[in-house]
Parts: sequence; structure tokens; C-alpha cells
Amino acid sequence: MPHSVTVREVGPRDGLQLVSNVMSTATKMEWITRQAAAGFDEIEVTSFVPPKLMPQFSDAVEVTQAANQVPGLTVSALALNLKGGIRALQAGARVVNFVLSASEAHNQSNVRCSTEASLRALRGILDWQWQFAPQACVTAAIATSFGCSLQGDVPQTQVCALAAQLAEAKVAEITLADTVGYANPRQVKRLFQAVATEVGDVPLAAHFHDTRGMGLTNVLAALDCGIFKFDAALAGLGGCPFAPGASGNIATEDTVYMLETMGLRTSIDLDALLRLREDFARWLPEEPLQGRLGIAGIARNFTPAA
Ligand code: ZN
Repeated sequence: MPHSVTVREVGPRDGLQLVSNVMSTATKMEWITRQAAAGFDEIEVTSFVPPKLMPQFSDAVEVTQAANQVPGLTVSALALNLKGGIRALQAGARVVNFVLSASEAHNQSNVRCSTEASLRALRGILDWQWQFAPQACVTAAIATSFGCSLQGDVPQTQVCALAAQLAEAKVAEITLADTVGYANPRQVKRLFQAVATEVGDVPLAAHFHDTRGMGLTNVLAALDCGIFKFDAALAGLGGCPFAPGASGNIATEDTVYMLETMGLRTSIDLDALLRLREDFARWLPEEPLQGRLGIAGIARNFTPAA
């Protein structure tokens, strides 16, 4: 097991996408800048979806451009279709994270097209990136990898087949996402091991939700089978669109704390992260703050991983 793990913050995108009060561009940039200063190398800063559908991200271009000025930060942005992917690359996103669902029902509900059509859109973004944005890269996330609130079970073979197609399309990284919080630790091990054998040397990452309290145990299970990159959202911001009131993404601060106490270095300053979390109460007064560390505080005997 290596001694360091990457935690990628997705709060400004995944966390904010269900928040109806639009956060100002200036506040988003204070958040992103301070989180980068706390040691985050990569932050998913926004989503290139039609502004009419999600006013929260109508400043996607401005946020991407401003985030590119933050020293040392790899700016990642989400896209769900060809137009969004190209807009993200044109705006200067260093990483375009394309999301498609293993579950047909979820893909239809999320982007109103089949998974196959999403795959074609992804190939179009990759073509554009190779020609016009060689400095950038395109990654893919498979939503509903561990189950779907519409379809129920998502067969492992379906996820593996999609991952193989993504690897063949030459995406730079594949994330398996537990979009609705259905995953359990044994399933995490089984699926990551199965997908790893399908995708050759394409790096894998994990995106877990804590909807049913299994977020961090799933991180542990993924670590055990060689996954060293995790998405998380500060204060567990995000919720679950299919379970009102439920928690969503795993909380960044809890994830970092667990990894550091296990001796796995994240290079993240936890005190700075908790101070930033305190500002969420002011910035997002209507959003419940999830995560345990923010309530309990850092243990007295805590020492960051060496
Ligand atoms: Zn999420």
C-alpha cells in the first residue's frame, strides 16, 4: 500500500448542484482558493450543464477561468454531453470529468439519452480534446455503479462492459460512483477488482456517498484493493436527489481524518479545512452540515501521517 492518497474535492460541483440558493462567484472562489491552500491538488469546481437547467452553474466559465489562476490547482469540471464537454475545454478546464450511468434508466432520467448515446458524446469530446486542448484530459465517471434508485440492481457485468468501452476510448481515469448510496464494502471490493481486470492500466478512482452510513467503510474496502483516489465534499454537502433530507457525498474532513490516522498521507491541513467548514454555516445557512469531525473536533492524540 502506498503512503499517500489523493482526495479530490467535489463540493463546489456535486455539493452545490442541489442547493437552490445560487452561491456568488466570489464566494465560490473564496471556497476554492482556501481549499486549494489547505492542500488540495484537484477540485471539481463546476458543471457545464445548461444554465437554464441549473442556474447554480451559470458562472461555470468564470469559475473555471478564475480557478485556473489558483497556484498549483488542477481545475476539474463536469460535463454530461458533447456541448458541455467542449465548453469546459474551451473555458480552460484541465480535467473534464464526463459522467454517464451504468443504469439505462438513470442515464435517461439524468441526461435524457441512452448510455450508448452518452458514450458517443464522450468520444466526441475526446476527439475535440486531442485536436484542440492537448494540455487537458478527459476522465469518466460511471454513475450508479453500485445500484440505482430507478433500476434497482445494476449487474456487475454491465459496469465492467461500460468500463471496458471507456478504457478503449482512452479516457485518462475512470471513477466508479455510488450515486445513490447503495454500495456495501464487499460489493466495492468485488466491483473494483472486476473492473481493474477490464481496464488495463487506466487509473481508477472512487466516489462514495454516505446516504446509508457506509461511505467510509466503502473507502476502506476500496483502499484494500488498491484504489488511492477518492472524491469527497466538504461538510458532506450534496444530499441525495432521491432521498430528501439524506446525506450525500462522504465528508471530505472525515475522509482526510480517517486516512491520516491510518498513516496515509493526504498533504491536507485539517485545521484549515475545519475553519473553512465553519464558514459554510454563513454561506449556506439553509444547508445541513454533515460529517462527524466538524462536530466532534480533532482528537487530542491526532498526528498527521508522516
Ligand atoms: Zn456525489
